[in-house]
Amino acid sequence: MSAPAASQAPPAPRKPRGLTEREAERRLVEHGRNEIAAQSPTPLYARVLAQLRDPLVMVLIGAVLLTIAIGDHADSIVIGLVILFNTAVGVTQEIRADNAVAALSAMSAPGARVLREGVPREVPATDVVPGDVLLLGEGDIVAADAELTEASALLVDESMLTGESVAVDKDPGTALSAGTVVVRGRGVATVAATGAASALGRIAALLEGGREPTPLQHRLASLGRILAVATLGLCLVVFVLGLMQDLPVGIMAVTAISLAVAAVPESLPAVVTLALALGARRMATRHALVRRLPAVETLGSVSVLATDKTGTLTEGRMVVQHVWMPRATADLSGVGYEPEGDVLIAGRRPTQAEWDPLRELLTTAALCNDASIRPPTGPAAPDDRWTPMGDPTEAALLTAAAKAGCADQATLHASHPRADEAPFDSLRKRMTTLHTTPEDRVLVCLKGAPEAILDPAVLADPTDLLHTAEQQAALLAARGFRVLAIASGTRDEVPHHPSDAESGLRLLGLVAISDPPKTEAAATIAACRAAGITPILITGDHPATARAVATEVGLLPADSSHEEVVTGADLAAGRIADLTTVRVFARTTPQQKLDIVEAWRSRGAVTAMTGDGVNDGPALRQADIGVAMGARGTEVARQAADLVLTNDELSTVVSAVEEGRRVYDNIRRFLVYGLAGGAAEILVMLTGPLIGLLPLRAGQILWINLLTHGLTGVAMGAEPVSPGAMNRPPRPPGQHILGAGAWQRLLLLATVVTASCLAAALTARAWDLPWQSVLFLALLAGQLGVVLGLRSRLLTKENLFLPLAVLASALLAAAALYLPALRSILETEPLDATGIGLAAATALIGFIAARVVRTAFHAQPPTTAISHT
Ligand code: ADP
Ligand code: MG
Repeated sequence: MSAPAASQAPPAPRKPRGLTEREAERRLVEHGRNEIAAQSPTPLYARVLAQLRDPLVMVLIGAVLLTIAIGDHADSIVIGLVILFNTAVGVTQEIRADNAVAALSAMSAPGARVLREGVPREVPATDVVPGDVLLLGEGDIVAADAELTEASALLVDESMLTGESVAVDKDPGTALSAGTVVVRGRGVATVAATGAASALGRIAALLEGGREPTPLQHRLASLGRILAVATLGLCLVVFVLGLMQDLPVGIMAVTAISLAVAAVPESLPAVVTLALALGARRMATRHALVRRLPAVETLGSVSVLATDKTGTLTEGRMVVQHVWMPRATADLSGVGYEPEGDVLIAGRRPTQAEWDPLRELLTTAALCNDASIRPPTGPAAPDDRWTPMGDPTEAALLTAAAKAGCADQATLHASHPRADEAPFDSLRKRMTTLHTTPEDRVLVCLKGAPEAILDPAVLADPTDLLHTAEQQAALLAARGFRVLAIASGTRDEVPHHPSDAESGLRLLGLVAISDPPKTEAAATIAACRAAGITPILITGDHPATARAVATEVGLLPADSSHEEVVTGADLAAGRIADLTTVRVFARTTPQQKLDIVEAWRSRGAVTAMTGDGVNDGPALRQADIGVAMGARGTEVARQAADLVLTNDELSTVVSAVEEGRRVYDNIRRFLVYGLAGGAAEILVMLTGPLIGLLPLRAGQILWINLLTHGLTGVAMGAEPVSPGAMNRPPRPPGQHILGAGAWQRLLLLATVVTASCLAAALTARAWDLPWQSVLFLALLAGQLGVVLGLRSRLLTKENLFLPLAVLASALLAAAALYLPALRSILETEPLDATGIGLAAATALIGFIAARVVRTAFHAQPPTTAISHT
């Protein structure tokens, strides 16, 4: 190979500089943002109308009319207040949920790389303007309609526009449409049209998460219908019982309607949406961006976490440590991408004769390379270091080349301009570039996975050299190194197709790159296990490297010799009957990732899978939770994912699972509380003949409903995570929301609260106290006792909203007894200390019952599901 000479470098071709920042700003004002007109927000009156159209509210409106007709003004006022309050709560919750979702989609919006004033910059796709120079690489989504000015091996997937599933080669001069995806290669394009003038509308459609109800909301809606029918039936019974006692039809009708309204947890859909949206917001503060709301609930039931290796379990900070060559082995020192370190051969500085083959190898690696390393920018910040741009593996090769004193990249590109290339992809596992040498010949540079290169079809070397190299590669891989083979050759002219140059080459040697496991990786794997999540590793790397890393992070036991590490070839040959028995997969293809996810899913597992490459899109979509890396991943992977990790840390998935479990637990807790309260209200009314003519008046029932479901119910959605939440297995995906003992718990609570309320009322009557008011207060107090009792951490300061809501409810209950205005509307009487004491006793009993029931629940394995799905 001819040594590149810096002095003879021809002038570099004129590079576009892109717009200036000022010009870009001006054009942004002139042309508007690169987005289709944002959907106009739902007007307030439409939200209010939507609330009023709810069947239960319509019933209430009917009740108001009825009470007005029969002249029962007190009840008209109370029911009117309830409608007002319900609508206000419903509308606010909807607005809060919408805002939370909007904030999330803003955070996960696509970005673009543009050249401004000659410097590449990441900008939000919405800030791209006509005339901008777009820099496109593998995995990018084209941000605006543009004309291609430079392209190398650029392959673009236009299926989202044309429906054509075959990606097309793009040459300079052709047009690119917004929303298409770069599958391979690189390109530079000038933006022609943005926003509504471009095909962006179709991207918007692509990214639109849609606001369909989540599976949980579906299930709750059907539960709600069943409950509504049951409740209406029971209220009819109350109505008939009243008539049998010769109570007026009008009053009984209003009472029965109020009871129905109180007992059905009509705020449930709102509570669920809000709980999911708030859960998503909390996840965002823990670096997990949820791109679809249903993912929040799915996260809680994840049972398999399929992770990739490079950059996820390992640092992804690659350092070349050894270079094996047919005649010598070199060791390199240094950390990170800093081009500083010693190069030693046999423990000493290489002789001139030893430098040549090493420099030839590393120069080849630097030519067959799309990465760059960037020196520290600012005035030395403490953690300011050299950073890799592009593929870290390739950046590590550049660092090694610099340590060995090879010519720098700019010089190399000038003396050996690239004529063509066959890019790296995880199927071929190798990359070839063709360069014109100063002598006007063609230099072929090849690098890739050893088994993709140490092949007589590729190399012209004697077979025993190939065997030795294979053994060396296996030894290095077993020590956990990522191994690449490097080869080169010369040709007289550029072949028609770049991969035609991949034959008759000469092996230069092997590089061993270390990529140490992250220190936290082992703890994350252990946390997964504790939470009943099976971790598996799927990598494109060598099986021995995969085994070494898997063992180090505890994914395989220390004596993992008998544990199978399965390769893509094993899978292709059909050697593995059951993919779910394998924990480590190596040398896999993207399609095999899909097969692995599918195998787990068909076993009823809920899978989360990480990915970052352009080929990972399908697997990310296939997995129940596709996880993309925010910083390292490609735009395509990010947009295909359900969850984007803004800090690129695997442990963030575990945090997100924890939030998911918290949301689900809180919704269940709210259901148990709300339904138990509603059931207690019905039961009390059914006992009418036992204690008095009409146990509670319509207004009183609605007041109770307001204070229990309204205030405290919403507060329950923000309860902190239960202490044991990450030490129990995930809930089975088919488990009913009221499964695993929740039904039993709520019936038990309803019975206890009802019994203690009746006891209080009967005692009050025996003691000649205003028993109806005692019953009213007891029913409220009993439920407030249950709220506090159901808390998983009784005295936590984390959700002060809940104790405050309980306090406010208690004060409002007192107001109902002591404020003359309220008293006359609700027809209550003030109570003395004895009456209050009876209600307090009910609260205590409700509290204790909830504590007991709560403990029983947590002791119960969640697998005893009553499956309804
Ligand atoms: P993973 O990222 O899971 O390690 P990849 O598919 O990226 O899997 O890499 C598979 C193998 O391909 C690596 O072990 C390495 O030998 C080789 N390889 C990786 N990156 C490149 C590259 N940029 N050029 C050539 N070969 C590469
Ligand atoms: Mg990779």
